[in-house]
Amino acid sequence: MWFKPNKINAIIKKQFKKYKFNSEINNYGTVIQIGDNIALIYGLNKVMNGEILEFEDGTLGIALNLNENNVGAILINSIYKISEGSIVKSTGQLVQIPVGNSFLGRSVNPLGIPIDGKGDIFSSNIRLLETMAPSIINRKSICEPLETGVMAIDSMIPIGKGQRELIIGDRQTGKTTIALDTILNQKKNNVICVYVGIGQKASTIAQIINILKEKKSLDYTIIISANANDSVTLQYIAPYAGATFAEYFMYKGRSTLIVYDDLTKQAIAYRQLSLLLRRPPGREAYPGDIFYLHSRLLERSAKLSDNLGGGSMTALPIIETQSSDVSAYIPTNVISITDGQIFLSNDLFNSGIRPAINVGISVSRVGSAAQIKLLKSISSRLKLELAQFFELESFSQFSSDLDLETKKQLAKGMRLRELLKQSKNSPLSSFEQIILIYAGIEGHLDDIDLQQVTIFKQKLIVYLRSLDISLINKFLLNTRVTEDIKIYFENIINYVKTKNM
Ligand code: ATP
Ligand code: MG
Repeated sequence: MWFKPNKINAIIKKQFKKYKFNSEINNYGTVIQIGDNIALIYGLNKVMNGEILEFEDGTLGIALNLNENNVGAILINSIYKISEGSIVKSTGQLVQIPVGNSFLGRSVNPLGIPIDGKGDIFSSNIRLLETMAPSIINRKSICEPLETGVMAIDSMIPIGKGQRELIIGDRQTGKTTIALDTILNQKKNNVICVYVGIGQKASTIAQIINILKEKKSLDYTIIISANANDSVTLQYIAPYAGATFAEYFMYKGRSTLIVYDDLTKQAIAYRQLSLLLRRPPGREAYPGDIFYLHSRLLERSAKLSDNLGGGSMTALPIIETQSSDVSAYIPTNVISITDGQIFLSNDLFNSGIRPAINVGISVSRVGSAAQIKLLKSISSRLKLELAQFFELESFSQFSSDLDLETKKQLAKGMRLRELLKQSKNSPLSSFEQIILIYAGIEGHLDDIDLQQVTIFKQKLIVYLRSLDISLINKFLLNTRVTEDIKIYFENIINYVKTKNM
């Protein structure tokens, strides 16, 4: 074949025109401003939101603000050797962390690096820090109870597996204790627990680990902690890291429980980062996307459909209020995202009613569908009796002489309130709760001194723990108190009572 040189020339020229040579190196940038865990970077043209950046000194950062002329990044370490002009490299990877069984019983930071001094953790599984929540098709309605072991909660504010139940209250009202008791109660329930500590004192976390160890509950628990002295970046990502760990087990078909202690501190960390990144402040100086911060986290809790293995992630987020103000910005946001709230009151706590749950304004929007039927049938009466008692109590303060009926009702209410008091780290099984509540509402405590109620309760529990478990499980299958159950319960109660007297 013979080509004319002109023609070949034209073809080559045409090809050259099409070819664009890009001489820029896109994945390197230069720091133009640095301080307060924030870096402004020039020249990183190809970077994703949430991508990991690597600085000259090995420090890692996360790209968060993608502006026209620069990229705003948050730094993971609080100590770094970065200055103006330092080189930054984008890694092309979103933040991901190692997960797996080997993390059970360990304490790690939000990047999965152990902080308990027990050596390295080996795992071949890696998951993205931020993932999409399961879709509606992939979910199932709440159908199994998650027993907290706290009588006031299991009876009147029941929680189901896959539910998100907020624990809200002022500082030092027993929020962490309720969450911790729930973890302790999962020992016999085969639920994997994840505790996320955000902005807590290292000593508080150490105490929690000690309690878990003492009660032999550490081997099914993972502790993720970004303490008050860690960088705000770690505090901001800690809950997502916790959700990632729980998700791993949920997609393996396991039931999981995750505690976020607490989301107020995460919101504050995020506010700090956002203000330093010069994002416009909104209400209470929080940035515009603060709702999304918590909604995308809590949406990851789910009860998965049977096709996906039927695993679940139950979330207990904690929010700290100031002077019981639930109408502040963050509390209202999280109340609206969750499926109910357990409200802890300072006044109740100080008057010795512990756990200090304000039953009147605490709700569980979905859990009653999953509550153990026998407990459900008994607690509906408990709720009613207590509501009447609270009303009567506030009325009776103003009148001096009360009729006999009212006095009787007051005495019963006081005993019920005494019954619901529970010391910390001592969860009760559903059967124990059922029989205790039965004794209370059927008036079996009325002839016991108010001060003696706790002692009776203790003795009853000790006796119940000596009974045959298989018989108890059979009783739990009933939906209401039948004549047989009634006789059985009353025999036990009378036996314990006479033994005491
Ligand atoms: P913070 O705001 O500091 O996080 P918190 O609301 O998480 O506090 P906790 O740390 O759980 O509260 O409890 C505060 C104190 O009350 C602790 O000393 C704890 O031992 C005590 N406490 C909590 N619940 C009970 C209980 N049911 N019985 C007796 N003491 C309790
Ligand atoms: Mg606490």
